[in-house]
Parts: sequence; structure tokens; C-alpha cells
Amino acid sequence: MNLPEIHRRRTRAVRVGNVTIGGGAPVSVQSMTNTRTADADATIAQVRRMAEAGAELVRVAVPTADDTAALRKIVPASPVPIVADVHFHFDRALEAIAAGAAKIRLNPGNISDRRQVREVIRAAADTGAAIRVGVNEGSVVDRADAARRQADLRKPLDELMADKLAEYLEVFGECGFDNLVLSAKSHDATTCVAVNRRLTERWDYPLHLGVTHAGTRETGAIRSAAALGALLSEGIGDTIRISYAGDPVHEVAAALELLYSLRLRARRGIELIACPTCGRLQTDIAPIVEQVRAALADVTAPITVAVMGCVVNGPGEADSADVAVCAGKGKAILYRRGQKLRTIPTEEILPAVVDEVRKLAAEWADQKR
Ligand code: SF4
Repeated sequence: MNLPEIHRRRTRAVRVGNVTIGGGAPVSVQSMTNTRTADADATIAQVRRMAEAGAELVRVAVPTADDTAALRKIVPASPVPIVADVHFHFDRALEAIAAGAAKIRLNPGNISDRRQVREVIRAAADTGAAIRVGVNEGSVVDRADAARRQADLRKPLDELMADKLAEYLEVFGECGFDNLVLSAKSHDATTCVAVNRRLTERWDYPLHLGVTHAGTRETGAIRSAAALGALLSEGIGDTIRISYAGDPVHEVAAALELLYSLRLRARRGIELIACPTCGRLQTDIAPIVEQVRAALADVTAPITVAVMGCVVNGPGEADSADVAVCAGKGKAILYRRGQKLRTIPTEEILPAVVDEVRKLAAEWADQKR
């Protein structure tokens, strides 16, 4: 089938270790550890789990000198480039760069002394580390000066965030440093969309997309998908983080699923198309869908499986799926790549689908050899 494509916005390319952000590179997935970074062993273990799940960059918080010291152990042990998240203390940025961080994140809202920023820029230029300048909604309004605060509050938030970023980037321009990734995050999905559109009008640096303080897994994943999905479908965004409270491995899985859904990355593993259930259902299909998902969770071959509850859309979905089953009362029709294979009793749906998928996965593995 001839499907519409997303046309990515062209940006500069920025190297972060062995990962390229922007410049036409695939949208990369990143996430952030929630261990204490100073506990190097726990952090390394979590970084590895995240990398196995598909994270291509991992960010760690470095609020103390013990954290940046631990980077000397974490960076060489990590399978992916490590990004140091720096707030308030510019010396943490210098220590992180010296310890081998491939990229650091600076927040204009809390490291603003130009002399200090110049020092960080010089250090990054020396090692080749990239810098993400990331503004957050929560730290753009001036808190020190009442008049400036009033002026900030009068501006539309997305304009204010872009203006603060522009002010901060002046010193990078003066230093001739352009190994930059930009980000502008809000907890509000609409603000995220608006401010990132503004950034594309002003700069051609690659953009890191994310929704900040998105909440729990239930709300955070949807809020992130609303903002990031809108931007990515316009071709905006070069690396993404979906963030919510909980295990960061789940964030990685959610980010990958978003990219797969938009066909911005080639799927690794099963794409499951499933009947959402309605009054036409003649077989209790929901538990079967879940059993199929669980039974095929280890498959890495890109295979589309449709488990449908009736004949309304079943044959149509079977046409575009690698393996499909269309259930009726007490029985189901099994398809492989649109071809009807046979009719099976309901209780054989799970083993029959799993068997067909495993055969296709073996063929895929043979072709790759
Ligand atoms: S596949 Fe059939 S049973 Fe399932 S939601 Fe669609 S129409 Fe309803």
C-alpha cells in the first residue's frame, strides 16, 4: 500500500559520541536514569537496561561532585553515549565534560553567568562534547527583578521561552560554538508544540523534544504523545524523550512505539493490530490479544499481526498484516500475508498465530544472514 510519508525538517548534524542528532539522521530515543548517579554500579545497570530496551542516549543527573566523579566509571562502562544534566553549578558541567560526557545539558534559567558559560563552552569545544541548551517553562520567568518579571509575564509563554533561548545563545554565537541541540519544554502539550514551531523559525539546530513534568505513566505517555506526535508529524524533532514517573525503561518503550507509529523508525518486533471489541464480537477476543502479545514479546523481527473479532474489518486488516486471525463464533480464519490458510477452532488461535509468526521470524533471520 502506498502510505503518506513525513518530510523531516533539515537541521545541522550534531555528533554525540557515536550518535548523530539531526542532519537527516533517524530520530533518536533517549531517556534519563533515576538512580543516584554517584552510585555508579546501580547507574550502569540501569543504563544497560535502558540501552537494551532501545535507548540510544542516556542522561544522568549530576547535582554533586560525587555524581560527576562517578561518570569516570559510568562513561566507559556505558554501551551508549552519556549526557550529563547540569543545573545551578557550572563546575559540574566542567567536571562532567572532563569525565567524558558526550553531551551536557545546560538550563539558561539557572546557569546564566556569561563568564561561567564561556568556560563551559571552551571545555566542550576542547573535548568535542555537544551542549543542549534546554529552557523549561518553570525557569524562564525572571524571579530576581520585579519589573523584568512583569515584562516576562506579559509575553505569550512560547514567545518568552524562545526569547530566553535567543538571549542565552548569544554567548555561544560569540564563542563560535555551534555543536548545539536546543529544547524547550513545558508540562502543557500545546505550549510544547507552539514553542518548538517557533524554534524552527529561528534556528536550524537539531531539536530535542519532550514534555516536562508529564506526570504518571497513564497521563505522561499520552501528554507526551500529543505534543511530540504533533511535532514529529510536521517533521520537527531530532531526538525525543518521553518522560513520566517510574521505570525509565518504560519511557524508552513508549518513545520507540511513538516513532514506530509515525513510521519514523523501522519497527523492531511485533506490531499488533487488535480488535478494540464491540457488540459484534462473538468470541472473547481481548484475553487472546493479550496472550498473543505476551507470547511474542521476544520476537525482534518486524512482523505485523492482526487479531480481529469479526468479519467487518478482519479480512481488510488481514490483507496488510503478515499474520492475521479473524474470529467468529467458536472458530476463526487464519491468514498469512492476505492468503487464507485454514479455519481453526477458537482455542487454537493462540498456538496457530504464534506458530505462523515464528516461521516468518525464522525466514526473516535467514534472509538477514
Ligand atoms: S473487529 Fe469486529 S468485533 Fe472487533 S471492534 Fe471491529 S467490528 Fe467490532
